[in-house]
Amino acid sequence: MRVVAIPMRTRFRGITVREAVLLEGPAGWGEWSPFLEYDDEVAAPWLRCAEEAAAGDWPAPLRTRVPVNVTVPAVGPEQAHAIVKRGWCGTAKVKVAEPGQTLADDLARVEAVRDALGTTGHVRVDANGAWDVDTAVASIAALDRAAGGLEYVEQPVASVEDLAVVRRRVQVKIAADESIRRAADPYRVRDLEAADIAVLKVQPLGGVRACLRIAEDIGLPVVVSSALETSVGIAAGVALAAALPELPYACGLATVQLLTDDVTGRSLLPVEGALPVEVPRVDEAALDRLAASPDRVAHWEARLAAVRAVGQDR
Ligand SMILES: [Mg+2]
Repeated sequence: MRVVAIPMRTRFRGITVREAVLLEGPAGWGEWSPFLEYDDEVAAPWLRCAEEAAAGDWPAPLRTRVPVNVTVPAVGPEQAHAIVKRGWCGTAKVKVAEPGQTLADDLARVEAVRDALGTTGHVRVDANGAWDVDTAVASIAALDRAAGGLEYVEQPVASVEDLAVVRRRVQVKIAADESIRRAADPYRVRDLEAADIAVLKVQPLGGVRACLRIAEDIGLPVVVSSALETSVGIAAGVALAAALPELPYACGLATVQLLTDDVTGRSLLPVEGALPVEVPRVDEAALDRLAASPDRVAHWEARLAAVRAVGQDR
């Protein structure tokens, strides 16, 4: 077990340093990086994902590359335009509904992104659950016009019940992200017909094979997204995306660049809008360079023991 602490390029989810535990098994390395506020019960499926990776227990890939989106934060239109031009992706995910900003800010950003992508690119927006139902309905219609057609809107409202209501009132497709955090959640999204698309993350949902089962059960198209992992963790998301029978949308796996460094010699970064389906090699020198302080290692050792005990109880 190795623990790394990697500074983020910009604050994300309130985090400026990303800590990750790397576990070595018979087939290689797996990443266990639950967020610090999660309790042992919530962190248990994250550990199953790491153990599955270290055991080499992934299904065979059905494709050699996984298209990914560039993410545009809640910046001004010029910066948004530049990010898309630099990102070399055919799909852009634009953050909207940022606290302190207005719909006019979102419209200007989305127009700039469409201009940078050209008519053939896909524009999706992500409100991170910030709107109420009526604001969502009005904003989605306006953003759809500004974008010249939205691919989908991700988590326009916070609750899965409200998601179902919004979905019935707009033309644009709805994706559930924050509504899916635990293994039972995708089934609830399906049962309430709350979304057209499910955003799945391999760590919170217990690994690649667990996510494949969920995808098959719920019968919704899946967008595989990251939980801000190093390239070792991203490889698990790529393994899921590569094994899904259908992959109609670009995935949210181009997040390694949010970190200032990485644990592998070559990072899983997009090439012409897609990630290669491969398992990057861990670089021992990087594990030393990025090693967490002894007190943080002790914290994670204790946490690992506690979460393993939860796993054995069930
Ligand atoms: Mg999201």
